[in-house]
Amino acid sequence: MRIGHGFDAHRFGGDGPVMLGGVAVRHEQGLIARSDGDVVLHALCDALLGAAGLGDIGRNFPDADSAYENIDSRVLLRRVVDALRDRKLITVNADITVIAQAPRLSEYIDAMRACIAADLGVEIDYVGVKATTTEEMGWIGRKEGIATHAVVLVDAC
Ligand SMILES: [Zn+2]
Repeated sequence: MRIGHGFDAHRFGGDGPVMLGGVAVRHEQGLIARSDGDVVLHALCDALLGAAGLGDIGRNFPDADSAYENIDSRVLLRRVVDALRDRKLITVNADITVIAQAPRLSEYIDAMRACIAADLGVEIDYVGVKATTTEEMGWIGRKEGIATHAVVLVDAC
């Protein structure tokens, strides 16, 4: 078995909604990124790539490559899952913590878990998505952006 950890952060900007865990979350601003800015799926991709020893999302999907402009991050996640499967690795579970002062995420959590479980090919109860704030401290507390930590366990199949 292998453990992977991923972290990502994006700054708010432009118009909403924000894409988080494959779900469009209502907010007055979006997240600035070359892709759709889905900070949750990017952290998850990095965790999976890290567990497999395959580098990181920037190395696998370079920003400079116009093919990734505004791309749906679920496409990236499915490519990462395929890359692991090619190496006979499957996901056991994923645990994700989204750190955001805004927007409120509680009503979107189960939809995110369902999207992620479908892309990982696991049951929904093997995907944890938790949301927390920083109690208004720091850049997240000032609502400048969103960060996410993801941890995964993968196993040889
Ligand atoms: Zn990102």
